Amino acid sequence: MTRPFPLVLSAPSGGGKTTVARALLARRDDVGYSVSCTTRPPRAGEVDGEAYHFLTTEAFEAEIAAGGFAEFAQVHGRWYGTRAAELRRVMAGGRHVILDIDVQGAEQIAAAFPDAVLVFLLPPSGETLLARLTGRNTDDRAAILRRMRNALEELRHVTRYHYVVVNDDLEQTIRRVGAILDAEVVRHARHEALDDRLAGLMSDLEQRLRAFAHS
Ligand code: 5GP
Repeated sequence: MTRPFPLVLSAPSGGGKTTVARALLARRDDVGYSVSCTTRPPRAGEVDGEAYHFLTTEAFEAEIAAGGFAEFAQVHGRWYGTRAAELRRVMAGGRHVILDIDVQGAEQIAAAFPDAVLVFLLPPSGETLLARLTGRNTDDRAAILRRMRNALEELRHVTRYHYVVVNDDLEQTIRRVGAILDAEVVRHARHEALDDRLAGLMSDLEQRLRAFAHS
């Protein structure tokens, strides 16, 4: 009954958004995931087409020129982008689409899809964020520094998001983002054919009222 919409999840690196997105996908059948494209190299264990579509810079830039991206941005010195066709594929299947993207991408999605829902996950403290970044063991010192600086910059954009969830308890965060989805799904503006449904319900009620009044 509800038109599918994009749900943007942003957070500084190490903020837990990938974990939250995966949990929502595992628990709900009304959401799908948009696999992004990137020019960064795969981390250990990342499979092409699952975590990301890993592209060369040439291929990525050719796709920008061809207008293939719904949004794209440079993050940590690499290209990242969401294919418009990927969004269409998920939403055409009747599912809301989760995008795990940065603040620049979020702004582009908000402009292109005014019905998109923007959620920012805040780390509970700087200490927690640093611990998560250094604990990941997949990035060198320079990369961690870059991600910390980027986190500071991203925090300046938090007020553009509709919802801000402090991610100090993973299970609670997953429940809260799920609750945001549940509430957004029933917004009256998202209901498809609400006028027809209301008209049908009202004429049904009127008939019953007349029949009841004469009984
Ligand atoms: P990572 O390299 O750690 O997977 O992601 C780095 C950052 O890029 C994260 O903030 C992530 O949300 C963001 N990102 C991932 N995919 C996209 C995308 O398609 N578009 C944009 N704008 N950012 C993305």
